Amino acid sequence: MKNNNQFSSSDSALIARLPTVRGRYSENVDMSLFTWFRVGGMAEVIFRPADLEDLSGFLENKKEKSPVTVIGATSNLLVRDGGIPGVVIRLGKPFSNIVPLQKSLRVGSAALNSQVSRAALRADRTGLEFLSGIPGTIGGGLRMNAGSYGSEFKDILIEAEIMDPFGNVHVLSVDELGFKYRQCSIDSNWIFLSALFKAPLAEPDEIKSKIENIRLKRIDSQPIKEKTGGSTFSNPQGHKAWQLIEAAGCRGKRLGAAMISKKHCNFLINTGKATARELEELGNLVRCRVFDNSGVKLDWEIKRIGLTKKFHQLDAGTLK
Ligand SMILES: Cc1cc2nc3c(=O)[nH]c(=O)nc-3n(C[C@H](O)[C@H](O)[C@H](O)COP(=O)(O)OP(=O)(O)OC[C@H]3O[C@@H](n4cnc5c(N)ncnc54)[C@H](O)[C@@H]3O)c2cc1C
Repeated sequence: MKNNNQFSSSDSALIARLPTVRGRYSENVDMSLFTWFRVGGMAEVIFRPADLEDLSGFLENKKEKSPVTVIGATSNLLVRDGGIPGVVIRLGKPFSNIVPLQKSLRVGSAALNSQVSRAALRADRTGLEFLSGIPGTIGGGLRMNAGSYGSEFKDILIEAEIMDPFGNVHVLSVDELGFKYRQCSIDSNWIFLSALFKAPLAEPDEIKSKIENIRLKRIDSQPIKEKTGGSTFSNPQGHKAWQLIEAAGCRGKRLGAAMISKKHCNFLINTGKATARELEELGNLVRCRVFDNSGVKLDWEIKRIGLTKKFHQLDAGTLK
């Protein structure tokens, strides 16, 4: 279904009330054009700051009460069909430097995990190989404490630079960030700017072979070519989400154009023109089925953001 909803574009438009910046504002941006799921309504305004000072000035001078949402590469986001009101902050190139230091790597939060793992390989640094298997940016990875194949962000992080909602920069150690499984305890309106990672030297062949192993495992086990958002639900204590979903008979189930992946049943996929609503409803139906079958409550790992859109015709009610 086409997203034709739009926030105001008159004189009262939000963009006219925002502080002057050196970066770029864009209005009514169709999120479905670039989210990993290829769904989602309009972002009212997207702000791409020119640099750290620009971002700080924006937050300090923003009088407008409308919400601010920071996004990374959207690989863990389900943006709802009614779009995202307020300002969406997207950090770009000025926040993506990668600098090898003696035993560490300093990395801007907009750098992609894949770029960081390649840069680590070029500088003969180990410990960051697992980043090659996780789509997204360093900022998103810190927020999610993303991890795979036995390593998580918290295992390699020394400290992170982070901006509070008033534009002040803080440097917090890994302990101060309060990481848990796929979570970080810092308020969701704080913005990661950069990270300092442990990165000891190692033999390049060792690093290469770890990256290659991860690549092969992922091809084998994840629907990486699909429009998806990664693991839909976090693993409940003592369980694997995919096993619970499998046991509840949900592998391959569809709702409209949304489907539970046959390859990895903790992945929701958009098989074509799914709406965010179909994907979210399918996820919720799976949660109900799993609860009925096993008594275990699944929690969403994918972040669902934005407004739901009212559809005239409700045709997404039953699982097929
Ligand atoms: C095919 C596929 C495979 C995946 N495999 C894995 C896996 O193996 N392990 C795993 O852990 N995840 C996996 N994921 C999920 C996802 O890649 C990770 O959660 C990733 O870290 C999200 O990063 P992102 O930049 O895309 O963040 P987004 O999806 O854009 O955002 C995720 C969250 O981070 C916040 N955020 C983003 N940037 C910042 C910032 N600079 N400061 C503060 N908050 C920020 C957002 O507000 C949001 O709450 C997979 C996803 C896909 C599509």
